[in-house]
Amino acid sequence: SSWWGGVQMGPPDPILGVTEAFKRDTNPKKMNLGVGAYRDDKGKPFVLSCVRKAEALIAAKQLDKEYLPIGGLGDFTKACAQLALGANNEVLSSGRNITVQTISGTGSLRIGANFLSRFHGGSRDVYLPKPSWGNHTPIFRDAGMQLKAYRYYDPSTCGFDFRGALEDISKIPEQSVILLHACAHNPTGVDPKQEQWKEISDIVKKRNLLVFFDMAYQGFASGDIDRDAWAVRYFIEQGHNILLSQSFAKNMGLYGERVGGFTVVCKDIEESKRVESQLKILIRPIYSNPPMNGARIATTILNTPELRLLWLEEVHGMANRIIKMREQLVAGLKKSGSSHNWQHVIDQIGMFCFTGLKPEQVERLTKEFSVYMTKDGRISMAGISSGNVGYLAEGIHAVTK
Ligand code: PLP
Repeated sequence: SSWWGGVQMGPPDPILGVTEAFKRDTNPKKMNLGVGAYRDDKGKPFVLSCVRKAEALIAAKQLDKEYLPIGGLGDFTKACAQLALGANNEVLSSGRNITVQTISGTGSLRIGANFLSRFHGGSRDVYLPKPSWGNHTPIFRDAGMQLKAYRYYDPSTCGFDFRGALEDISKIPEQSVILLHACAHNPTGVDPKQEQWKEISDIVKKRNLLVFFDMAYQGFASGDIDRDAWAVRYFIEQGHNILLSQSFAKNMGLYGERVGGFTVVCKDIEESKRVESQLKILIRPIYSNPPMNGARIATTILNTPELRLLWLEEVHGMANRIIKMREQLVAGLKKSGSSHNWQHVIDQIGMFCFTGLKPEQVERLTKEFSVYMTKDGRISMAGISSGNVGYLAEGIHAVTK
């Protein structure tokens, strides 16, 4: 007998499974559009120059490797909150936010979920957009919350189902939690417009819902960090005391460094001190304190004026390359002779595009063209380059004729 005889084989991760199949394929033209990591125009992983420069500055300082505080590096959490809320935000000057450093966006969401589970008296229910990032469900479920959904994506337009979303949100029981993607919605690439955000804010306030913003792509949607934070700042201005998760995986390309932040906007400074004390009590038995390297890199970039400028240019460059690929893909589809309307590929935003391809079409694209993606028809735009965009267009046309 064995201790683990009762452990059943679990299913593979849907996205990492795509990468496994891709690796086995010997076609030299193969493309992996499953995983959400930025690639340069030669298809290679991209380390930002601002990151290389920050690393050199940090190495030259010969810093020690003592533990960070439970809530992370103080300079980092300050700069992190400023980046999201804007340096002049009243929340920051009144000190009514608490921001802790987290293990990237995932760790931030999980700390948030655990905090809700322990302290949100209102309701266990967390409402996610339909569809949402695949990891949202297990993150909240494993923390003891219950998952519900509101309409978000309209397959008939490959766009935002504004009416459906408002209708569903207006029926959410009071004091429930609603999760909103701040920008560059994953997996659909569909974001509400500013006028639509305003109506969502009104309804959410009317329903007295607790807002949890997930901002994993600040700067990556439009190329402009302030524009991408618009919804978060607007909601705060409107009096929502939000929870906020931030990640530096995509916008600084710090994927494996695992650097992020979790913020609770409180009623006043006194409340924020109480919340801070409980976040520390929550974090201490999970990982004690966060890793320092990524936080040092991000802080050096945010707080060194030349590096910050360079970073803003590089974020802009990444976002622009993706926007260019959207245009080239649509041009390629037209050139291949496709008569479908592909405008949504251009209108969608951020790293991903929800192509509207059906599972059978995805299967054919993989089998006949060695193009790998998740079954829902989502492609990572960041995996396309000027060298292979034409090939992809031909493939998509062939399976959608
Ligand atoms: N939230 C969303 C919507 C995401 O797409 C991702 C990454 O794909 C994350 C959070 C968290 O990523 P990480 O833990 O790498 O920061």
